[in-house]
Amino acid sequence: MAVAQSFDLVIVGGGFAGLVAANRAAQLGLTVAVLERGHDETYACNSRYAGGVLHISYHDVKDPQPELVRAVEQITDGCADHALVTALAGTAQRAVEWLAGEGAKFDSEGSISWRQWVLAPRRPPVTHMQWQGIGADVTLRRLEQNLVQRGGEIHRGTRALSLIMDGERCAGVEAQGDRMRRAYVAHAVVLADGGFQADIDLLRQHVSPAPQALKQRNAGTGRGDGLRMARQVGAAESALDAFYGHLLSRDAFHNERLWPYPQIDELASAGITVDAQGRRIADEGMGGVFLANAIARLANPACATVIFDDAIWQGPGRSSSIPPNPVLVREGGTLHQAATIAELARLAGLPVHELEITVGAYNEAVRSGRCDALDPPRSANKRAPMGVATPPFYAVPICAGITYTMGGIMIDGSARALRPDHTPIPGLYAAGSNTGGLDGGHACGYVGGLMKAIVFGLIAAEHAAGSLQAK
Ligand SMILES: Cc1cc2nc3c(=O)[nH]c(=O)nc-3n(C[C@H](O)[C@H](O)[C@H](O)COP(=O)(O)OP(=O)(O)OC[C@H]3O[C@@H](n4cnc5c(N)ncnc54)[C@H](O)[C@@H]3O)c2cc1C
Repeated sequence: MAVAQSFDLVIVGGGFAGLVAANRAAQLGLTVAVLERGHDETYACNSRYAGGVLHISYHDVKDPQPELVRAVEQITDGCADHALVTALAGTAQRAVEWLAGEGAKFDSEGSISWRQWVLAPRRPPVTHMQWQGIGADVTLRRLEQNLVQRGGEIHRGTRALSLIMDGERCAGVEAQGDRMRRAYVAHAVVLADGGFQADIDLLRQHVSPAPQALKQRNAGTGRGDGLRMARQVGAAESALDAFYGHLLSRDAFHNERLWPYPQIDELASAGITVDAQGRRIADEGMGGVFLANAIARLANPACATVIFDDAIWQGPGRSSSIPPNPVLVREGGTLHQAATIAELARLAGLPVHELEITVGAYNEAVRSGRCDALDPPRSANKRAPMGVATPPFYAVPICAGITYTMGGIMIDGSARALRPDHTPIPGLYAAGSNTGGLDGGHACGYVGGLMKAIVFGLIAAEHAAGSLQAK
């Protein structure tokens, strides 16, 4: 194995977490190398595919810190690690200002309070994956240029395989390049490889009994390498079962124009989501991310159908920025329509009698205000229930789209990887979607993947620089 030169900091992954950490470390005087598995100049990663909305749990990142803390605690139903929430909320404003100092440009979406910091230029409202020249892509390219100008290195086509340990301390990374395997010796390492959403084995172990039936709503680059490397050296991990994602038309498996949008979340959270037996699957009032997780846990996740009426189709169906009404049908997605629930069941391939019973019981519960007595209960957490009573009635066959895994390597508020006893592993940091403890939990609470990556990338670099200077 060839020995590469040594660096102060080696970073695994060139998404926002990795490139923010690299630039901040270089700015603070550290020698830095980023190892990136992708070969192309514009290698795929979730950061490049992102819509670019910087928010914290659907709040403006510049809201006062206590408000941001409350927002995260509320959406995660108290599951988020307090040290991580405090670090995120307390660093958010400075992180966005730092990014602006790197040359990032922002746009805002007027009256929508949590869309005040959108990387410019904004993504056009198209359904299919379009990332070239959009805010996230432009900002990543800028960060790479800045890194090179600061003397940092990015080694593309280089896959990190394992961590080098010197006793208890992480002292570098072994990686496979195009031609050879190399040891990258370092004072510290940041794992920023983006999660395990695209690794079928890890998904089967932790997320779904049938991971092939989940639509990969992501760049396909999060293969769990960082999690495996951290496990090998004794790092702790959070619960790994929750992911951030959305409900998509099931046709997205064969129609590229139906992902990453339109999301079917609004229709599902206003109406009813049923399985192949015509029975409700989970509390629709918890929203699309929660439902996507519940569907993923079914023995057959490719069996879910959203049932709704014309009031929902004309209301919530039009309410998002790329709404299913009318784009679902325009882009080739299936929408069954019928004058009665029985006819709808026949069109959607659902058992007629069972669906009539489900819809009848649900409508009765909505009318009487007793949705808590349904099985499963129906809350108004994200959206109040609407009856399914105004014809025509509709059915959309859906699937769970997985964007990134929310569980991962356990870190502290300084982005240090922790052992099960909560002591840090010296020299080892993790940042971005490969970390756990912040989002997820039983409520599948979403905190905001970009802010998680940017803030903890920044924090990891600053802590590594501080500990090097203290030596
Ligand atoms: C369609 C879509 C829209 C989104 N929109 C938003 C949004 O508007 N707002 C928001 O907050 N979040 C959004 N997200 C989520 C957000 O993009 C991610 O949470 C965030 O970018 C993750 O950054 P990261 O650096 O942790 O991971 P990534 O961006 O995935 O980067 C990880 C990098 O590590 C590399 N890598 C993996 N393994 C190795 C290895 N062994 N060795 C070397 N390199 C490796 C990968 O190739 C990749 O380049 C969106 C995601 C998608 C897919």
